[in-house]
Amino acid sequence: MNTPRLIFVDIDTQRDFLDPNGALSVPDAQAIRPNLARLIQLACQLHLPVIASACAHRLDDPDPEPFPPHCLVGTPGHDRIPETNVPTTHILGPDHRDDLPASARHITLHKRTYDVFSNPHASRLVTTWGGPNARFVVFGVATDYCVRAAVLGLLDRGQQVWIVADAIRAVDPTAEPAILTDLVRRGATLTVTDRICRDALASLE
Ligand SMILES: [Zn+2]
Repeated sequence: MNTPRLIFVDIDTQRDFLDPNGALSVPDAQAIRPNLARLIQLACQLHLPVIASACAHRLDDPDPEPFPPHCLVGTPGHDRIPETNVPTTHILGPDHRDDLPASARHITLHKRTYDVFSNPHASRLVTTWGGPNARFVVFGVATDYCVRAAVLGLLDRGQQVWIVADAIRAVDPTAEPAILTDLVRRGATLTVTDRICRDALASLE
């Protein structure tokens, strides 16, 4: 069997969600930060492609989300946390027309609703990087909103999806088990950071 090509999907690991004093701090999100750091370090080390979604709101935007203001463009809360910030990232907003540079490995997709596929570049990236031998490895926050929407969008597009259970957290922790059970029933696989790191490094041998 061919070794799967890994594509990492880093969902909304921004300071407003992950910092304890962030505008929409996700409960217990501090606990996943070391695993987020390991995953992004691995991606950089192995030059794995990364799709990094980011809420990018403005106070005067129509508000399609059921949340208080968060991740406002130009505020520190919009920034990625240091563990997942990749300074060489290529940023694509939902209205950007530019094509993807062929050499880009880390793409930040700005979005105004919780579904990363609200940015049309997400579908284009999945077409470019996906396929029968591709495995999308999803992590970040929050399980019950943006992570779930990304996993469903990838499954709808016929992709293989692995969810890193020890690198996600939910706004409502009591809802997380039922959501993960449902995503597995729809075809996703649950994994952990250790397994992803071990498999990725073994694939080099
Ligand atoms: Zn948002």
